[in-house]
Amino acid sequence: MGCIFCEIAEKKRQARIIYEDDLTVAFEDINPQAPVHALVVPKKHISTSLELTDEDNALIGHIFQVANRIARTKGIAERGFRLVMNCNPEAGQTVFHIHLHILGGRFMQWPPG
Ligand code: 5GP
Ligand code: ZN
Repeated sequence: MGCIFCEIAEKKRQARIIYEDDLTVAFEDINPQAPVHALVVPKKHISTSLELTDEDNALIGHIFQVANRIARTKGIAERGFRLVMNCNPEAGQTVFHIHLHILGGRFMQWPPG
């Protein structure tokens, strides 16, 4: 089975890409849950956060830096935003290639549903 986020990273599948570098690609979520809803995805295929190894430590830090950059660009950094990475089905993970959600532009509920 193909991986849809690998396909987006490889430009084999269309997406509204808002940032890209050697390690990551970030794009608008197709089904936004907030006025700002973007995903930061490593170009390396990692199916869930449980598969991370020491080799990925710098990559994970970089993903957060990219998310900060997007939050600033989108004008939600100071107001506030939420970063979410769902792991496995009970948490709501539906795409098994890790991705950091950036959600903002509205008040967020806590605890999450
Ligand atoms: P998860 O539920 O795995 O944490 O998040 C997957 C996210 O990917 C969902 O918010 C969903 O709307 C988004 N998504 C699924 N397929 C596509 C796609 O083909 N393109 C884009 N841009 N987003 C997608
Ligand atoms: Zn993948």
